[in-house]
Amino acid sequence: METERVLENIEPYEVFHFFEDLTQIPRCSGKEEQVVAYLIDFAESHGLDWQKDDHLNLVIKKPATKGYELKPPVILQAHTDMVCEKNKGTLHNFDRDPINVEVEGDKVIAKETTLGADDGIGVALALALLADKEAEHPAVEIILTSDEERGLVGAEHFDMNRVEGRMLINLDANDEGSFVVGCAGGPVIRVEIPIERVQAVADTVTLSISVRGLTGGHSGEDIHRGRANSNKLMSRLLQAIRRETDLALASLSGGLQYNAIPRETEALITVNANDKQTVLNLILTYEKIYRNEYRSTEPTLEIVVLENKDRPANVLSTDSSGRLIDYLYLSDNGIIRMDAEIPGTVESSINLGTIRLQEHKAVIQVMTRSSVESVYREMYNRVAFLAKHAGGEIHIMADCPEWEYNPDSRLKQIFHEVYEEMFSIAPEFHILHAGLECGVFAKKSTKPLDMIAAGPTSRNLHTPGEYVSISSVQNFWRFLKEVLKHI
Ligand SMILES: [Zn+2]
Repeated sequence: METERVLENIEPYEVFHFFEDLTQIPRCSGKEEQVVAYLIDFAESHGLDWQKDDHLNLVIKKPATKGYELKPPVILQAHTDMVCEKNKGTLHNFDRDPINVEVEGDKVIAKETTLGADDGIGVALALALLADKEAEHPAVEIILTSDEERGLVGAEHFDMNRVEGRMLINLDANDEGSFVVGCAGGPVIRVEIPIERVQAVADTVTLSISVRGLTGGHSGEDIHRGRANSNKLMSRLLQAIRRETDLALASLSGGLQYNAIPRETEALITVNANDKQTVLNLILTYEKIYRNEYRSTEPTLEIVVLENKDRPANVLSTDSSGRLIDYLYLSDNGIIRMDAEIPGTVESSINLGTIRLQEHKAVIQVMTRSSVESVYREMYNRVAFLAKHAGGEIHIMADCPEWEYNPDSRLKQIFHEVYEEMFSIAPEFHILHAGLECGVFAKKSTKPLDMIAAGPTSRNLHTPGEYVSISSVQNFWRFLKEVLKHI
């Protein structure tokens, strides 16, 4: 069913025309077949060379325009998939329904679902350039990757030999005037600490403790916001209790994902009946301490304690409880180092993401991030060393490649000069404390790549209410065409 077009009269027409086309095509991560068919159709109808690989990555090439034949080719890159999130109660079916796009002042917005400007607007900009008969530019090679949002999957499978360019402009950044010149990488580590279970001692009481009400957030992009990690708060409390009582852990569980700051951690402990009041007092004391330390970032933090009538079937031995609590208490967490060259930017961080107890081992997931490889290697070494001291071992679950900042980047210089010339204000450059496909390209490419990530301003990414600024698309489209003339 044809839906009414709502972006036809918005400038730049060519960019919004292709963007609106994309909003009509289902393209959740892993389901890019239809959008790829649309893109091949586009290339065919514009007489452009294209290649597709087995992972639905696409390359479309357009020759240099007159006068630019001797300039080096430039790669523009965007991802074709989108995050599919919707509000509870919405009937929207992402496999079938077009996105319900609205214009609200300067915003193109989807209120009930994600809009897919991440990264549909990047794809639309690339298509608009390919279709533009007046734009002047060197040869352009467009890489359109699949399945970015589930972990840079398309990029991981992309063969860089399919392109010749050594300069790559990634169109997946979302702050006009603040360009990305590096990104963090690092391993996700699973720590396993063996535990021994023993019978719970008679004459003990069982207390269920939960640290909860925390803000949480993205373990990279929100790590500098001073929020508390519930796993760390719990381990500090347990260590304090352990200093004054014979605590035994019966269970411990915290965090939902390794890449999110944990918001809630629960522990079940037993202590001698006559230590019960000491423990309750400590809990009150630490709740006060935490509320003070995090008074601006964690207004709803609380520690809730309940006494269980039933004693657990078994508890961790004194040695096992101690090793596990020591591990958590001493483990690194949060910002490790700020970037010395780009003020206000986190260079390296680590997130004590999840804790689970199994029958014979505790399993802990930790995520490291750094834009400098040697620093995340060192964070990894520290995790391994501490795990070994707790009698445990580690495994790498995933490895995200970093894109190390190059202060001498020619693209950065061009972006700076052109932006300042056009808008009479100097642009900002920053290093993203999260993964980006540029990290994968940097690792895969056999020759050095000069890269930058840019795009018009969009907000509320990955959530319903995602929008892109119309005026910013106008600025960015003009800017991008001007940049290509200066390569
Ligand atoms: Zn994206």
